[in-house]
Amino acid sequence: MPRLVAVSNRVADPRKTAAGGLAVALADALNASGGLWFGTSGQVVERDAGGTPGEAKVHLQRAGEVTLATVALSRDDHDAYYLGYSNGVLWPVFHYRLDLAEFDAGDIDGYRRVNRLFAHKLMPMLRPDDVIWVHDYHLIPLAAELRAIGSTHRIGFFLHIPLPPPLILAAIPQHEWLMRSLFAYDLVGFQSDADLQHFARYVRNEGRAKQRSDDVFHAFGRSVRARAFPIGIDVDEFDALMQGRDAQDTLATMREQYAKRKLLVGVDRLDYSKGLPQRVRAFRRLLERYPENHMSATLIQVASPSREDVDAYADIRRELEGLCGAINGEYGELDWMPVRYIHRTVARKRLPGLYRAARVGLVTPLRDGMNLVAKEYVAAQDPADPGVLVLSRFAGAAEQLGDDALLVNPYDTQGTADAIQHALRMPLDERRARHARLHARIRDHDVHRWHREFLQILKEDLG
Ligand code: UDP
Repeated sequence: MPRLVAVSNRVADPRKTAAGGLAVALADALNASGGLWFGTSGQVVERDAGGTPGEAKVHLQRAGEVTLATVALSRDDHDAYYLGYSNGVLWPVFHYRLDLAEFDAGDIDGYRRVNRLFAHKLMPMLRPDDVIWVHDYHLIPLAAELRAIGSTHRIGFFLHIPLPPPLILAAIPQHEWLMRSLFAYDLVGFQSDADLQHFARYVRNEGRAKQRSDDVFHAFGRSVRARAFPIGIDVDEFDALMQGRDAQDTLATMREQYAKRKLLVGVDRLDYSKGLPQRVRAFRRLLERYPENHMSATLIQVASPSREDVDAYADIRRELEGLCGAINGEYGELDWMPVRYIHRTVARKRLPGLYRAARVGLVTPLRDGMNLVAKEYVAAQDPADPGVLVLSRFAGAAEQLGDDALLVNPYDTQGTADAIQHALRMPLDERRARHARLHARIRDHDVHRWHREFLQILKEDLG
């Protein structure tokens, strides 16, 4: 079996479950064949920008069957590539937020520089038959940089975030260069069919691509296969976490403290794509319109700190904190606090207990590539007395879970409040039936299937 080389912005120790979605998914793929995982260490060192590609040293570390290879970025490179272009331009635009994008001409240079640095550092470590799998928006031009220095490897790319429609993408000054870069890959994977359709429309309209078959596009002198591979969770790993001490303790504490309440839970990074203010407004509308929920419905919102050095994140935090405070002030009683807002990361091993204690799981992003919390919430439920998932139609997960979750438009405050009320009142037999179907689907589309299918198709010839 050829060796798998995974490349992502950050590398995490795959033996630690705290690492979260991408790390769990990649660890599983890498452990199957033994492999190399390359990316930044997350450390930033004070040295001149970019410098010569030889300047940064690759640090190697063994983690079971996997070799972790990391480089530290200079302050200037990190600021331009990570904060500037990746999170100041690509993240907002790919989440349809042109209003938040900060197009600073200097950042694109840093983005190119770091991708080139990655290629130069990785190339000497590659064996001829390695299969390379590049992850996410930070590294779109990596294959083109590798090809420029002679790589003939099979190289695949998976975009973990959404791809917006062509006219939104076209707001990025370098959109043509970015999309052309995708043609240096052999396979490009998206989270959903909607994202894939946006890609197809873009390359047909802007790149005059010819479609050679259902999933093979030819443009810019190269062919690329593009498909949707919806990412999933490791259901067994999650079941094991549910049985663990931390999850069980969390469940017991929640049940004891909220014995007389109905819990609603949200677990998100504090990101403007997650629709947190909209969610809290919908909860306020629920209390306004359905007073039977007073002294009962309690929203626990975990908002884990994220990218705090980007301005837009500080704004969303202020807005959310203001809203939560206002609801508690208006509706709270001495012995009932309607919203518990927690601005901290809750350890992954405790989350299953929190999910299971909640009658309603609120996953209402304004836009999300997939959203693994939606799947984790379903996985954590007791099949005999499951909670109800209220899910945004704008999450990638809606393509798979839309029929049995309660789908909402998160911009529609009243509609979301009505859906929450529906969830709170849903009879047991309906909850069981919906949960059984949701659970079957997340098991069927789990993380093992995701990487197995991607890697299998990456190895196939384009025909
Ligand atoms: N997560 C966590 N603790 C937190 C918040 C989130 O462990 O306090 C985990 C969560 O369980 C999930 C991941 O982080 O596995 C978030 O993935 P998702 O796809 O929902 O959103 P992303 O953060 O990747 O946009």
